[in-house]
Amino acid sequence: MRLIMLGAPGAGKGTQAAKLAVAYNIPHISTGDIFRANIKGGTELGKKAKGYMDAGQLVPDELVCDLVADRIAQEDCTEGFILDGFPRTIPQAEALDAALEKMGLKMDAAVNVDVPDENIIERMGGRRACLKCGATYHMVYAKPQTEGICDKCGSELVLREDDKPETVKTRLGVYHEQTQPLIDYYEKAGILKTVDGTQSLEAVFEGIKAMLG
Ligand code: ADP
Ligand code: AMP
Repeated sequence: MRLIMLGAPGAGKGTQAAKLAVAYNIPHISTGDIFRANIKGGTELGKKAKGYMDAGQLVPDELVCDLVADRIAQEDCTEGFILDGFPRTIPQAEALDAALEKMGLKMDAAVNVDVPDENIIERMGGRRACLKCGATYHMVYAKPQTEGICDKCGSELVLREDDKPETVKTRLGVYHEQTQPLIDYYEKAGILKTVDGTQSLEAVFEGIKAMLG
């Protein structure tokens, strides 16, 4: 199963992708997590990406397209994969199609987790992230067992720099302008599936699984 998770920042793509990765036993590939790991590790890529991310802007296409093409060509992606946070622009979607075509493959579905802007601010303000393992929590809707500590790896949870309200507004603007057109792109490709992302975590998960069959 080769899946794309679409949706506004904070819609719940990462939360659902992590659950789907376990259910279908395929890797969860989050470009945001890859960039954050590079920033933490002090790599050249991390240095290039940081300024864009902190400002709520997209990292340039040329820094992300080859990275994803290389990742999906790895051994663990043979049975499928879930892309979370990629593609985010039409040129990225075209680059993905070209990379897949070379491998003789196609995406199976693009799942649009649909959440209106007014719910997003609350979701992002309450989000707490583990920068070590990429796990995500919410202070009200998805609490860790011990406040401020990651259940999975025991690291400290943080409010991401780009989840502060001023940056969230910028990110939503960027989403509407550059990423939302992908909904049409995948509708035309015949693989778009839309789920109501305002439901509970479990209901969204069940809805996606039912659509994927
Ligand atoms: P994205 O990957 O789309 O940016 P996340 O999966 O990180 O979004 O979700 C954003 C925040 O909202 C997180 O704190 C997450 O725990 C919370 N969240 C995700 N899905 C739901 C839901 N269905 N109901 C309530 N909160 C949710
Ligand atoms: P995310 O973790 O998906 O919310 O991504 C956090 C930030 O990483 C985004 O706001 C962008 O700055 C950057 N980013 C992640 N994925 C991409 C992508 N596919 N294209 C451009 N920038 C990206």
